[in-house]
Amino acid sequence: MPATPGGTGLILEEATLFDLSRPGRKGASLPAVSTSFNVSKHLPADLLNTDGPNLPELSEPEVNRHFVRLSTWNYNKDAGFFPLGSCTMKYNPKVNEWSARLPGFAASHPYQPLETVQGNLELLYNLEKFLGEVGGMECVTLWPNAGAHGELTGIQIMRSYHLAKGNARKSIIIPDSAHGTNPASTALCGYSVIQVKSNEKGHLDPEAVAKVMTEDVAGIMVTNPSTLGLFETHLPEVAEIVHAKGGLVYCDGANLNALMGVAKLGHCGADIMHYNLHKTFSTPHGGGGPGAGPVGVKKHLEPFLPVPRVVKDGDNYTITEDCPQSVGRVRAFFGNFGVLVRAYTYIRELGADGLKLATQMAVLNSNYILAKLKDDYQPAQKERPLHECILTDKKQQEFGVKTLDIAKRLMDYGFHPPTVYFPLIVPGAMMIEPTETESKEACDQFITAMKEIARECEATPEKVKSAPHRTFRRRLDEAKAVKEPKLIWKK
Ligand SMILES: *Cc1c(COP(=O)(O)O)cnc(C)c1O
Repeated sequence: MPATPGGTGLILEEATLFDLSRPGRKGASLPAVSTSFNVSKHLPADLLNTDGPNLPELSEPEVNRHFVRLSTWNYNKDAGFFPLGSCTMKYNPKVNEWSARLPGFAASHPYQPLETVQGNLELLYNLEKFLGEVGGMECVTLWPNAGAHGELTGIQIMRSYHLAKGNARKSIIIPDSAHGTNPASTALCGYSVIQVKSNEKGHLDPEAVAKVMTEDVAGIMVTNPSTLGLFETHLPEVAEIVHAKGGLVYCDGANLNALMGVAKLGHCGADIMHYNLHKTFSTPHGGGGPGAGPVGVKKHLEPFLPVPRVVKDGDNYTITEDCPQSVGRVRAFFGNFGVLVRAYTYIRELGADGLKLATQMAVLNSNYILAKLKDDYQPAQKERPLHECILTDKKQQEFGVKTLDIAKRLMDYGFHPPTVYFPLIVPGAMMIEPTETESKEACDQFITAMKEIARECEATPEKVKSAPHRTFRRRLDEAKAVKEPKLIWKK
């Protein structure tokens, strides 16, 4: 980096720290700087580096070309249709990126005095209210960093509630159609899992729940819509059974673009739920983050919410940590604040009608794809799905072709494959989630490719089994790639 003449104190200090001006370092050199504090004088001589850091020296165009080239090898939402079921890979409006980068938001510091970040606090306060309204929940915390983190927080709240009554209880009921993170979060909180089987239609079965619900069970954790993309119609009945024994109902609302504006989980008996802002509420995701998994609760669970709580005091916003029964802090500072700004913008932009329309479009698109492909691939769902449809490789097996082959062949047609082999209770699952942001034309192109592949499975199965043929890399040995990764930094 070239020297900044008359730069800030911070830059001078850094220059001293790394001693960038030392002779022998390749590339740019800084003019000798003198500050009142020279770190190297205060460290033992044998711990000081004799060489400068060996960083690559590249010009801006070289760096730019390198990353642009890498980006062209990658498939992304801006490049095309990305029907990864359960993950909600939708197009996110660029205006949300703009709002998250507004200097008042992006440049604020978590230790700033609260009177200088009133706008930020107002946004947090209002977002809690908006999400509460969408989910039918009375109080919301925005701090968890992901869906799974929201689950962990929610189960901690459940545990604290029972502990306050004198008994944490021992286990939590989870249906076999649950998202994999549900049993993991439960176990992390020290609960054992009682698995219940879904009924023949893939629904939560009230009778199965009644059989295992006792006063030793803390509650039930239900993914709704389920991983089969179905609405759990028996939820109110199940909630009654669980509540009658003093248990709580947790709803995994990660896939809320199947429900928002149409139904509220809080009205179906849920006491606790989480939202995935990076799925439904417009933060681009993939590769592990950043995300946000706010948790909503009913009023009787408010004392257990994590701290800090954002409160409104007259016209001012402030935070309080004076919550003796709280589960404590789950995250430093104010969560993934940029993700919260995007969600706020998204909700304000769409409004109540827009959120409902997003749900309707998501459900329509998935049902359209299912209707067009149900004769080519055996569907898994026995009734109309919500935002995602599940096809299987049952018909293709007679030609020796599996779901994995079909997924790989889709890449040759320029599409990202759907989620495969999930949910676990569906053999050979291809879980297709088009999302609300795809046009009919985009859905039609995908349908055409899937039909073409179905024909290839019959006529030229070897071609499908050896796919992909047109991608930058051919088919990898996935086990080998995981066990012996080639991670090269320098040749
Ligand atoms: C994505 C998802 C999760 C986990 O969310 P993360 O943000 O990836 O931790 C949990 N439950 C369901 C139903 C999901 O689709």
